Amino acid sequence: MSGPPPLIPYGRHDIDDSDVAEVVRVLRSDWLTTGPDVAAFEEELAARVGAKHAIVVNNATSALHLAMRVAGIGTGDRVLTSANTFLASANCAAYVGATPDFADIDPRTYNVSPDSLQHAWKDDVRAVVAVDFAGQPCELPAISKLARERNAVLIDDASHAIGATLDHEGSRYSIGANPWADMTVFSFHPVKTLTTGEGGALLTDNDDYADHARRLRSHGIVREQAQFLGLGAGMDEFGPWYYEMHDLGYNYRITDIQCALGRSQLRRLSRFVARRSEIVKCYNEAFCDIQSVTTPDAEGRAQPSWHLYVLQIDFECIGKTRTEVMLQLRTHGIGSQVHYIPVHLQPYYRQTYGYAPGKCRIAEEYYTRCLSLPLFSGMSDDDVKAVIKAVKVTLR
Ligand SMILES: *Cc1c(COP(=O)(O)O)cnc(C)c1O
Repeated sequence: MSGPPPLIPYGRHDIDDSDVAEVVRVLRSDWLTTGPDVAAFEEELAARVGAKHAIVVNNATSALHLAMRVAGIGTGDRVLTSANTFLASANCAAYVGATPDFADIDPRTYNVSPDSLQHAWKDDVRAVVAVDFAGQPCELPAISKLARERNAVLIDDASHAIGATLDHEGSRYSIGANPWADMTVFSFHPVKTLTTGEGGALLTDNDDYADHARRLRSHGIVREQAQFLGLGAGMDEFGPWYYEMHDLGYNYRITDIQCALGRSQLRRLSRFVARRSEIVKCYNEAFCDIQSVTTPDAEGRAQPSWHLYVLQIDFECIGKTRTEVMLQLRTHGIGSQVHYIPVHLQPYYRQTYGYAPGKCRIAEEYYTRCLSLPLFSGMSDDDVKAVIKAVKVTLR
């Protein structure tokens, strides 16, 4: 007897035997955490994107928090981010006592736009958290110009965009290593393009940011004798046990088990990006002539690393609610998801900062129409066909 068709989720990790073998190698080794695979993953990741430093941590939310700390953001400061993002891009500002604030998106790319940032700017803005939504690089050159002119730090939340590049004045720049972002953050959550189970990274060319972030990752501890302050009675015998805490840090460490997985995944990153791009092309060709939908549009200057495939659907025109469409797709075995509820409309943000509907109208309007379809590198051609068929039937 044949049961219901298997569910094709909106996102899924891509793990093969080589990943499993690398994880097993670490499980049999002497180091489960803070060992050689952490350092090796940092080196390989920095080399892959072309950044001077990579600091790997337990998740991207921690990496964003560290970015705020090392940039010196705190009480009395304002941090601008996109209204169309995951909570963490804004929460990191609240962690350090700053005020998270939001700018609207470009209706074509769904990315925060330089114009809307300029419009939302206030005198106390000290940092911008730009987001490369769905894996499409945002307009970093223009955003960085704005931030530099106004003395603000630019952090690129590239949780969606590892492997993406951006062309500017005849050169190609990698997300994670470019002249514009002071720091870049990646997420290695299983729905993202490259996974370590849970994990994240902070990339920067700035030596001070990198040193400080490394120290904060592990309780603010300093182990190099040259840096010891030795304050206090009996604190001048720097024996082999000795360490000092110079800063209030955290335990944001990632394990060698996870980093072994990350190293193995990194070797396949180009293939992941290429397969996702192929699927996006199939979807775009299949859906471009459906009246009630808008397919994603890649900026000419960007080579996205597609994390999400978002359709904008005119639900009124097709006479179904989004919930009905999602449920109907589900009966065909197709998962879908919504990215994102505008962050400023979350109860916490409304109650704490007084934000209200109408603040970022394009992101709010976009939210009423968006639906993410399955996109992951392990999708077979038959999976892609099944999604296309189900979407066409459902939106007919
Ligand atoms: C996933 C995601 C994060 C948080 O990543 P974690 O690794 O789960 O902490 C932050 N920002 C964006 C845009 C994300 O999509």
